[in-house]
Amino acid sequence: MKKRITIKPKSKRYKKRTRLKGFKKRVNKKKNIATIPPKARRIFDAMTTDKEMKKQEVAGEFDFEKDKQGKIKLQKWNTTLGGEDEIEFESTIDSELDFHSHPESDVLIFSTTDMDAILNDKQQGEILFRMGEALVLVRPKKINKEKFLKEYDKKLWELNTRNASRKDFVKELSFILKKYSFKLQKFKKGKEIKIPLRRVV
Ligand SMILES: [Zn+2]
Repeated sequence: MKKRITIKPKSKRYKKRTRLKGFKKRVNKKKNIATIPPKARRIFDAMTTDKEMKKQEVAGEFDFEKDKQGKIKLQKWNTTLGGEDEIEFESTIDSELDFHSHPESDVLIFSTTDMDAILNDKQQGEILFRMGEALVLVRPKKINKEKFLKEYDKKLWELNTRNASRKDFVKELSFILKKYSFKLQKFKKGKEIKIPLRRVV
């Protein structure tokens, strides 16, 4: 019995420490939430819902800055207009995130080519716009790229072959993304977009 009592305080201390660690982590994460306010969103919503605009793909990048209060705000962005289903763009500003649109797609999902480009990029993630909706993807720190791309592509191919519903496309691809520690969140038209960034440059 006495022995057990001496073990107890030790385990308590240990618990305390881990809790503290977790708490610190949560605080840091909260600090690094970048936002795209509804005002700025209207521009991107228009790009993917306007009759004429939505005929072409758009792509670009977002640059966020930390203000004195530690809030991460959208500082600037650039936009490149592309063709109907493809676009090429080069980074010209110090940015954290890229974005592009899928005007011709029926469902808001990243293609395998998108995922390949995202993983070969220095950016922390990507926002995909379609019909006013936004899908935010933040990549994991470490990933087995080849293994992931193979699995993602196989799943996309399988979903296409079996004529899966939009719901299944989203559900099954999100499952793979989350399995590989991607952060994924969808934002409805006009709503503030929140992005958990690792760092702001
Ligand atoms: Zn794409």
